[in-house]
Amino acid sequence: MRKKIVAGNWKMNNDLQETETLLDEILATKPEFTTAKIVVAPGFVNLQAAVAKTHNSNIIVAAQNMHQAESGAYTGEVSADMLKGIKVNTVILGHSERRAYFGETNALLAEKVTTALKHNFTVIFCFGEELADRQSSNHFNLVESQIREGLFHIPQAEWNNIVLAYEPVWAIGTGETASPEQAQEMHAFIRNLLKEVSAEVAENTSILYGGSVKPANAKEIFSKPDVDGGLIGGASLKASDFLEIVKGIE
Ligand code: 13P
Repeated sequence: MRKKIVAGNWKMNNDLQETETLLDEILATKPEFTTAKIVVAPGFVNLQAAVAKTHNSNIIVAAQNMHQAESGAYTGEVSADMLKGIKVNTVILGHSERRAYFGETNALLAEKVTTALKHNFTVIFCFGEELADRQSSNHFNLVESQIREGLFHIPQAEWNNIVLAYEPVWAIGTGETASPEQAQEMHAFIRNLLKEVSAEVAENTSILYGGSVKPANAKEIFSKPDVDGGLIGGASLKASDFLEIVKGIE
C-alpha cells in the first residue's frame, strides 16, 4: 500500500518566530490522528527549530533544496550532511521555481537525486508542465522527459525513497487548479510510465498533486485513485487551511 502524504512547502516565507507559531498551531490540533504522513518544509535557517518543535510528533520536516556535492567551495549552498546533522532526512528537489529561477535542469536534478539517495534521504521530486506545453498538447512528453532524465538512473531498490509531486506550473500560486480529472489523467500516465522501472514501483510510489490546492478542492482531488496526496504552497501557511486539507485525505 502506498503512503498518503500531505506536504506543506513554505517557500521563502516565515521567520523563526512565525515558523514556531505555525508549528504550534498545527501541533495543537493533534494531527497524529491522521492516517496521512504530514510533511512541512520551512526555509533552511528555520529547519533546526522546526525539528525541535516537531520532535515528539508525526510531522516530518523537509528541506526545500540541497546541493549535489558532498562539501566544498559552493558559497551559499547546503549539503546533505549539513541537513542530516540537524536530523532532516527529507528533501524537495526539482521544484518548478528552482527550475525556472535557479536554472536547475533535469541533468542537475539527476545528480541531486543521486546524492540525496546516497545519504538515505526521502526525495519529494517535483515536475510539471508550463501552460504553453499543455496548450500545445506537449504536457505528457514534457513530464515524461522530466521523470526519465531526473530519476530513471536510480536503482530499482531505491525507489522506495522517492515521492513524486506533479505540479503543473500554470496552477502554482495562480488560484487555478488542474481539475481532478486532469490530475488523475496525468497521475495515471506517470504510474504507467513507472511500470518501466517495475510493476511494484508503479504500484507503491506515492504521487502527490500540487498547484492551488485549498480546503475547498482538496478532498475531490485526493479522491482520485492515482492521487496520493498533495504538495501545498500558499494554503500551507495557515494552520487551519493546511489541517483542513490534511482532513481531505481521510
Ligand atoms: P500553491 O499551493 O501556492 O499553488 O503552490 C504549490 C507549490 O508550488 C507547492 O510546492
